Amino acid sequence: QLQLKDIHKEFNGNTVLSDISLDVNAGEVVAFIGPSGAGKSTLLRCVNYLETPSSGELLIDGKPTVKIASKPTRNELMNLRRQVGMVFQSFNLFPHISVLRNVALPQERVLGRSRKEAEERAMELLTRVGLGDKADARPSKCSGGQQQRIAIARALALDPEIMLFDEPTSALDPELGGEVLAVMQELAATGMTMLVVTHEMSFARRVSDRTVFMADGRIVEQGAPEQVFGAPREARTKKFLEAVL
Ligand code: ATP
Ligand code: MG
Repeated sequence: QLQLKDIHKEFNGNTVLSDISLDVNAGEVVAFIGPSGAGKSTLLRCVNYLETPSSGELLIDGKPTVKIASKPTRNELMNLRRQVGMVFQSFNLFPHISVLRNVALPQERVLGRSRKEAEERAMELLTRVGLGDKADARPSKCSGGQQQRIAIARALALDPEIMLFDEPTSALDPELGGEVLAVMQELAATGMTMLVVTHEMSFARRVSDRTVFMADGRIVEQGAPEQVFGAPREARTKKFLEAVL
C-alpha cells in the first residue's frame, strides 16, 4: 500500500536519511526504533511531506504521491494529508474550543462536511477512544493521555488510510501513556496501516507486525518483532537493545 523508494534526506549538506526503501502492506503495523538522531521522525515527516525528501519516491497504492518530489503542489499535499494522518508527541489541540469542535472542525475545513455530520462523526470517534463524556469540555480540562486520544480521534476523523505516530506517549506518565497505547492497539486490530516511532519497546514487540531498527539515517535491520528483539542479527541492534531493555 505504501512504498518508500530510496528516500534520501539532507539538511544543509548533512545526510539524515540514506537509501530508505520500505514496502508497507495494507493493515500492517510497522514500529520504528533506534537511537536519538537516527532519523525516525524525519522519515515519518517525509512520508506526508512535512519534510521534502531530497530524493526518492513515495507511492501509495502504486501511485506517486506527488509528481515532482521537490515541488509538491498544494493539491497534492492536501490529498496526501487526507490519506495519511499524523499524531505527534505534542497534541496541538485548539485550546479555545470544545473537545468535540476540535475533532469536528478539520472535517468541516478539509472534507467540507456539514457541522452536523462532522459533530456526529466526532462523537462516534470520541466514544471509541473512551472520551464521549468529555465532548463539551475544553482540552485543558483533560489529562495528557486524554488529550492525546483526542488528537488520535481528530486524525481519524479525516478517514485516513494510513496513520503515522511519532512517539505519541513520550510526553506522558506511564499510566496515561498506557491509555493511549491501548487505543492504538485497538486501532491496529481494526486493520489500520500504521507507522509508529516509539520508545516503548514492549509496545513495538507486542503490537507491531514488523519492527524496523534505524541508526545513522539507515535501516540497519528489520523483521518480525520476535526476531528483532529475540535474535537481532546486527551488532548495532544488539547494542541498542541491551542499552534500552
Ligand atoms: P529522537 O529519537 O531523538 O526523536 P530521531 O530518530 O527522530 O531522534 P530525527 O529527529 O529524525 O531523529 O533527526 C535526525 C537528524 O536530523 C538529527 O541529527 C537532527 O539533528 C537532524 N535534523 C532533524 N530535523 C532537522 C532540521 N529541520 N534541520 C536540520 N537538521 C535536522
Ligand atoms: Mg524523533
